[in-house]
Amino acid sequence: MSSDTRAATPQRPAIARSPMRPAQRRSRREPSPQPSLQPYAARVLADLRGRVPWEKEFLQAVEEVFSSISPVLEQNPQYEGASILERIVEPERVIAFRVVWTDDQNQVNVNRGYRIQFSSALGPYKGGTRFHASVSLSSLKFLGFEQTFKNALTGLSLGGGKGGSDLSFRGRSDAEMMRFCQSYMSELFRHIGPETDVPAGDIGVGTREIGYLFGQYKRLTRNFDGALTGKALEWGGSRLRPEATGYGVAYFVEEMLRDAGESLEGKTVAVSGFGNVAWGVVQKVTELGGSVVTLSGPDGFVYDPDGVRGDKVDYMRTMRLGGRDAVQQFGERFGVEFHPGRRPWVVPCDVAIPCAIENELDEGDAEMLLKNGCRCVVEGANMPTTREAVRTLQEGGVLFAPGKAANAGGVAVSGLEMAQNRSGESWSAERVDAALRAIMTRIHEICTGAAECYGHPGDYVIGANIGGFSRVAEAMMSQGAV
Ligand code: GLU
Repeated sequence: MSSDTRAATPQRPAIARSPMRPAQRRSRREPSPQPSLQPYAARVLADLRGRVPWEKEFLQAVEEVFSSISPVLEQNPQYEGASILERIVEPERVIAFRVVWTDDQNQVNVNRGYRIQFSSALGPYKGGTRFHASVSLSSLKFLGFEQTFKNALTGLSLGGGKGGSDLSFRGRSDAEMMRFCQSYMSELFRHIGPETDVPAGDIGVGTREIGYLFGQYKRLTRNFDGALTGKALEWGGSRLRPEATGYGVAYFVEEMLRDAGESLEGKTVAVSGFGNVAWGVVQKVTELGGSVVTLSGPDGFVYDPDGVRGDKVDYMRTMRLGGRDAVQQFGERFGVEFHPGRRPWVVPCDVAIPCAIENELDEGDAEMLLKNGCRCVVEGANMPTTREAVRTLQEGGVLFAPGKAANAGGVAVSGLEMAQNRSGESWSAERVDAALRAIMTRIHEICTGAAECYGHPGDYVIGANIGGFSRVAEAMMSQGAV
């Protein structure tokens, strides 16, 4: 995954193309001209750059949203009067704390813990918890900002937040993870609750970690409530929550292809990552008739021309739970090609779904995808595609969807888990799946509708940003200057 992968990825590979199907010719769509930054947005962005020039990922995310919403700002001059943009880029609250924990060698370790309570315009703060060496205030601010619009797109009553720690979970024992989670929650419990802020998992935080976090929350508050989502099914979790992000991505891809008169049936799909999102994508893409031919980790990627299916999908879970953050073992176990230190975007494919981490697909990768005939790129991770790569793909006529739309299925089912916790119900898998599918279809409609309405048909970046921003901005206008 990115930061680690990038260190280990000095050059782009020229992998043998012969065993794969030949590149197809792509019909070129005319991209709509990008809207320029509206003066009010330009002023707020320039001010932000001056104040936090080191928060690179956050500035990248803000620029992407601001570049999309010019027509909305033009039509709503009252937003400037109410300082909507100045407020929307400022988290409502930033909580930072020390996490002290003892490892298996009795060594005392210190990490940084954070929770960014970004926006409560639409509901309690809601968003994941990331334990990864790359975590910083900037990365969490970008993720919290994105989460705010993503959650708005779900149509549910969810504000935006994000948290985590710069802990690298790789190589950590079960007992170490438990002690770390207990220490992290010993500070965080004061700031969360089912109607205040509801954290969930993200990279490095799965059902196991949510269990340890919840145990400590319950011990400290004496409340057994829905202050976390992604819980195990036996004690308040929702059916299909682990699969939800990946299933939602696949449903979104299916909607995009349907609009273009196609489907996933018979499509070759390149996926990066091997964690929770990739796992759900692999399952649902395969069920919908596509074939996922790559997975990746910090050590490189595997190419499996027969498609990742059956036992191989189960093995992905074993890999994650084993704590070995690497895909070489997958290559060895199933006798498929392993390409060390490389990213999967060199493999000819119809659809590419980056599911690892931010900025893992750059301009060179985008050019390679175009050259090899890729027609659709959909973000399973949050902002895995650089700004330059998005431009290259869109100019090349590729259908491109941002993570805030395509991967919203995870947080959407978290919203359904909250609903089940409030009512004391436990919904069937069929009910959750139908609700998830309806939400993803609706997000697709919002994106295409907004893009069309504002003169950029087929531009999912503009559609998602306008759709998400409009809902948050209107709620902020109604609630006054807070
Ligand atoms: N971490 C996931 C995301 O990026 C899920 C968040 C949640 O379920 O609250 O959307």
